[in-house]
Amino acid sequence: MTKQIYHHIGGSEYQGSSDAVGKVYQPATGEVGGEVAMANKADVEHAIATAAEAFPAWRATTPLKRSRLLFKFKARLDQHADELARLISSEHGKVLNDARGSVTRGIEVVEFACGIPHLLKGEYSEDVGTGVDVTSIRQPIGVCGGITPFNFPAMVPLWMFPMAIACGNTFVLKPSEKDPSCSNFLAQMLTDLGLPQGVLNVVHGGKEAVDTLLTDRRVRAISFVGSTPIARYIYETSAKSGKRVQALAGAKNHMVIMPDADMDIATDAALGSGYGSAGERCMAISVVVVVGDQVGDELIRRLKPKVENLKIGTKEDDDMGPLITGEHLAKVKGYVDLGVKEGAELVVDGRDFKLAGHENGFFLGGCLFDHVKPNMKIYQDEIFGPVLSIVRVPDYESAIRLVNENVFGNGTAIFTRDGGLARDFAHRIQIGMVGVNVPIPVPISFHSFGGWKSSLFGDMHIYGPEGVRFYTKLKAITSRWPKESINPEFVMPTMK
Ligand code: NAD
Repeated sequence: MTKQIYHHIGGSEYQGSSDAVGKVYQPATGEVGGEVAMANKADVEHAIATAAEAFPAWRATTPLKRSRLLFKFKARLDQHADELARLISSEHGKVLNDARGSVTRGIEVVEFACGIPHLLKGEYSEDVGTGVDVTSIRQPIGVCGGITPFNFPAMVPLWMFPMAIACGNTFVLKPSEKDPSCSNFLAQMLTDLGLPQGVLNVVHGGKEAVDTLLTDRRVRAISFVGSTPIARYIYETSAKSGKRVQALAGAKNHMVIMPDADMDIATDAALGSGYGSAGERCMAISVVVVVGDQVGDELIRRLKPKVENLKIGTKEDDDMGPLITGEHLAKVKGYVDLGVKEGAELVVDGRDFKLAGHENGFFLGGCLFDHVKPNMKIYQDEIFGPVLSIVRVPDYESAIRLVNENVFGNGTAIFTRDGGLARDFAHRIQIGMVGVNVPIPVPISFHSFGGWKSSLFGDMHIYGPEGVRFYTKLKAITSRWPKESINPEFVMPTMK
């Protein structure tokens, strides 16, 4: 029987008032594994009302008590990490070891959120004037909404709601309808641990559900992670209705290889970061910029056989699994066809790959293009699949210019043995996250994650210290306790 996936509102399953359902595929077999309820406006309004009702009591729960609950959550997540990874793997398709890694990166945000009593400590200045003190404190903002993409069905929700609820907010999460089960799994875990009803709610759905979250006045902040066109829409619509918003978006991440780089390390870095998770990562390397033809030829010589021999399948230690849906597979293949038409050299063609026993699965072999030019669509667009492009440039300055002129600004990396050059690169590059001999520089949970340019709309990055700022409002309190009466002052007060 097909699995039915419903909303989680007020601490229990909620079937909703809409008959609409979405198909949830098992990407490895191509079969439909489940049906997810697609919320209508009324369902989302119910979730928002539930979150709004839960807010006053949760706000009044001390940070220490919130933190103790998060400690329990972290311990329970550790216990069930493998189960969660299997759920990710079945609905998303990424191989189990990769799924496990993403669970760990999500748990790290919960670990950071456990420190919330410390993170919420304010600032205090004694005697800013005679007998006058100033305190700055951060307070929760109310009901917050989160909208997440398909490619990290546990990790990206964990980037958001642990920080939001640790800060004293209540939350409505709208995960990707393509792999919705992990969010319910996480919400149920917190409910079982005693999180008060309504503090974390999950609604499933598409545009109608999202639009309700964006426009409802009771929702005070929106975190979004997804593609650039939708992120732009989320940012503009939320801002128009007076909300705080961070909308993390798509990417085209360049890895620059300098002539002095260790080519063993650089080749393996390009391979793992280009094809891991079938290229469905916002921090995947999709463009390798080789400085000089010699580096380009050497990279192709080393990389080609490795791409041809990628272990593609469903085993836990395979290099990559299938893409998320048949539709996405067709789109990625379409880009490979286009690249050939545009005149790039297809060095490895994975379009005919079939996995024995899984012929209907959404698998694509690794594809490698050389001599890609910046005016080609395969260079300009985010493909989000196992397709790596090599762009050849004559020198370091051309590499810098190429990366800086790209509309996206999520991640980048340089491979070199020259410390001074690496420092210059990190200093001048117009990108939010930079790796030096590190291909996927996703910041650890106690730093913050975010891109520049068309990779993030809004002002604040996600999780880490920026996460605390995003989910709280600053208040400054100026106080004095005079012993004598004070004459009225009609001029702008200055400190005496
Ligand atoms: P997507 O933009 O299609 O969907 C993201 C979310 O938006 C989903 O919950 C979806 O239901 C919702 N949505 C889709 N269409 C909508 C519409 N018209 N109106 C309102 N809501 C809508 O993204 P995806 O395909 O799920 O995920 C892949 C994308 O996410 C890639 O572009 C990737 O780079 C990006 N991503 C970015 C980051 C980052 O941190 N910058 C991290 C992960 C993924």
